Amino acid sequence: MRRTPQQHAVLDALEAADGPLTARELHERARARLPSLGLATVYRHLSRLEQGGRVVAVHLAQDAVRYEPAGRGHHHHFRCVRCSAVLELDGACPVAMLEGATLPGGLTVLGHELTLFGLCPACSGAATSATAVAAAGATPNADAASAAGTLAGVVAADSAGTL
Ligand SMILES: [Zn+2]
Ligand SMILES: [Zn+2]
Ligand SMILES: [Zn+2]
Repeated sequence: MRRTPQQHAVLDALEAADGPLTARELHERARARLPSLGLATVYRHLSRLEQGGRVVAVHLAQDAVRYEPAGRGHHHHFRCVRCSAVLELDGACPVAMLEGATLPGGLTVLGHELTLFGLCPACSGAATSATAVAAAGATPNADAASAAGTLAGVVAADSAGTL
């Protein structure tokens, strides 16, 4: 596949991001380098890159579809409840020990999805207490329930997930 300047701008913006981006976020960043870049073009390139296996879609509960470069391996994401930024989480998977386990009830674990949420560094500077977060209107959503719920609840959320 021949790389166009547009495709370069899209891929580079994805690579440089510290988390998966929505098409609109990606458009804003890529346009800094290529001001003529249109949102429709971004969508088109994302679709092609996804079909070509260069980019993967990231589906988080109650969030627009996000995209990140393929090949990052098993990892999870952190969503800021205040500014909605979604960041990559580095380090060991907190629930890796569940892989291959059999839970009560005869449930064999094949995979999991997990999204942590809280405050990003920029927002925790402005709001250092849980009270402030609550005041900002943040309410637990499906992700929150999964992350804070029982082990079985987390696993049941997506037993086939391989992300
Ligand atoms: Zn934030
Ligand atoms: Zn990611
Ligand atoms: Zn994991």
